Amino acid sequence: MKKNSYNFKSEVKEVLNLMINSLYSNKEIFIRELISNASDAIDKFKFLSLSNPNTYNIDNDLLQIKIIIDKKNKLLKIIDNGIGMNKKDLIENLGTIAKSGTKKFLQSLNEKEKTNNNLIGNFGVGFYSSFIVSEKVSVYTKLANEKKNKGFLWESNGTGEYYITQIKKKTRGTKVVLHLKDKESIFLEKWNIENIINKYSDHISIPIKIKKKDKLNNKYIWKQINKAKSIWTLDKKNITKEKYIEFYKYLSKDNNDPLLWTHNKVEGNYEYINLLYIPSKLPWDLWNKEHKHGLKLYVKRVYIMDDAEQFLPNYLRFIKGIIDSNDLPLNVSREILQNNEITKTLKKSITKKILNMLLKLSINDNKKYNIFWKQFGLIMKESPAEDFDNKDLILKLLRFSSIKTKSKKQTLSLEEYFKNIQPNQEKIYFITSDNYITASNSPHLEIFKKNNIDVLLLYDRIDEWMMSYLHDFKGIPFQSINKIDDSINKMVSQKKSNIENKQEIDMFIKKVKEILKDKVKNVTISNYLTKTPVIVRTDSKDMSTQMIKLFSAAGQKVPDIKYIFEINPNHSLIKKLQNIKDEKKVENYIKILLDEALLIEKGTLENVHEFSERLNNILEEKI
Ligand code: ADP
Ligand code: MG
Repeated sequence: MKKNSYNFKSEVKEVLNLMINSLYSNKEIFIRELISNASDAIDKFKFLSLSNPNTYNIDNDLLQIKIIIDKKNKLLKIIDNGIGMNKKDLIENLGTIAKSGTKKFLQSLNEKEKTNNNLIGNFGVGFYSSFIVSEKVSVYTKLANEKKNKGFLWESNGTGEYYITQIKKKTRGTKVVLHLKDKESIFLEKWNIENIINKYSDHISIPIKIKKKDKLNNKYIWKQINKAKSIWTLDKKNITKEKYIEFYKYLSKDNNDPLLWTHNKVEGNYEYINLLYIPSKLPWDLWNKEHKHGLKLYVKRVYIMDDAEQFLPNYLRFIKGIIDSNDLPLNVSREILQNNEITKTLKKSITKKILNMLLKLSINDNKKYNIFWKQFGLIMKESPAEDFDNKDLILKLLRFSSIKTKSKKQTLSLEEYFKNIQPNQEKIYFITSDNYITASNSPHLEIFKKNNIDVLLLYDRIDEWMMSYLHDFKGIPFQSINKIDDSINKMVSQKKSNIENKQEIDMFIKKVKEILKDKVKNVTISNYLTKTPVIVRTDSKDMSTQMIKLFSAAGQKVPDIKYIFEINPNHSLIKKLQNIKDEKKVENYIKILLDEALLIEKGTLENVHEFSERLNNILEEKI
């Protein structure tokens, strides 16, 4: 038969190199990877044979994974009677790394990171791990719906190329043959293989059998190694922590332990089992559009599909797990799931389950919850916009930085904010900004600091958008302090304003209004400020600065908003300004002050040149 040679895609070469170097201390995981592939292939076949019995007739063959050790030829064989592959599949699945972004991700790693064992585990390198121990790998395979004895052999030594040859193959499925390197003879020991399977693959629900000589009659028999029971169907009491963790690693292809999980058998209107995990690390490709999410779906123990995203809201796209329904039909498709009552009900209860699990964690183990928030907080901030039903739960899960936490870390809950609320405080105050430094140094905070009122400091890009979906916590409304608000005025008037020369300052305000008439909405006296001479604030009904930034970043048209310019009458600079007789100078100074205030509020200026020219003029005068 003709043998065709192909080059690996470049990222495959890199993955192979990386793996051989970085997984060196944990070589044995290649067995887990090959068994998980075999199990997936059998699951897929089982599903197709149930949904298309005419094309995929399920024969009397037991669905199983077989392992054969050939010590003499130093071969380890893993055989499945699953879905199999044709030539195209071989090229697509074993010649490329399907996941987009992998290449970019690899390039972003530095040398040190590349040798970090955990990092490589972040993208399921799967099949290629067999090259850690093999000098050559041969894959004999035949697609399940192939009527003739037509199969393919894929071979490679894992360096630059691979070969595909058409072969005669009677049986459906795939046989992976590892030609082990001389020094890897430990993987030709039956006891070792059995141990490794017990350690990593006991949860596999397909029987895994190893060929063994029967001592009594000297014949070969197949000995089953695993229990072949789906872990989620077992009683919680009988599942060890290690087994839960191992199952997570199989499901998620993440080498890190999960942070937390929940396992439930639900027997209400609908019967189902769920086993849901929260990872401890943000998946590296979570922000990619192509990131697959959702749960692995089973119906009455039969595998149906991966990435069934219909059971989770989008903001929980980092959750891994399985759901096994007794009520959905076996031939359920993604389209059916989309508009299904059962799906909707299950989604609702699974979402609640996860949010409650997180709430419990936040109460019982704040340290662990902070780890969660550090990794997933940004995604959780999508939740208020997406999930109105669970608004109250979500509010309790949010974490913030504030004046009083004195740190960029988002650790303050609204409950804790509440504990510090002042007797006359009518609102929960927050400020939005581009970054923590700007937020925490904003002159808007002065009055709050003076009155010992805490303000939430929001500096993530998504925050302004999130806050637009939050109305109140326990009946107390949220209020942006970038905006004009009565409650802030009240706070000040209670303290009695003490302007020394009211008439003079009124005159001055009038003058400033005249100077800035096209540039601002209004000019007012501010009682909020202590250290800062002037500030700009958004009118209560206008779009906030951060929102405008969000809209323009998304390419949307934004209204032209004018600010309210507030002057601190007690500031020495303002007092000096009032005494200057040269009108031109006053105009120049006022315009500089406005630009400064705008810079603080927006981080940018429309006409920077004008600003710098004015500033330079002053410098000339002074130097
Ligand atoms: P993953 O399992 O994460 O997809 P792998 O590198 O382990 O990545 O496998 C790549 C692909 O090769 C699989 O998705 C599957 O399509 C195919 N594959 C691997 N092993 C088998 C097998 N035994 N039978 C059928 N297809 C397989
Ligand atoms: Mg795999």
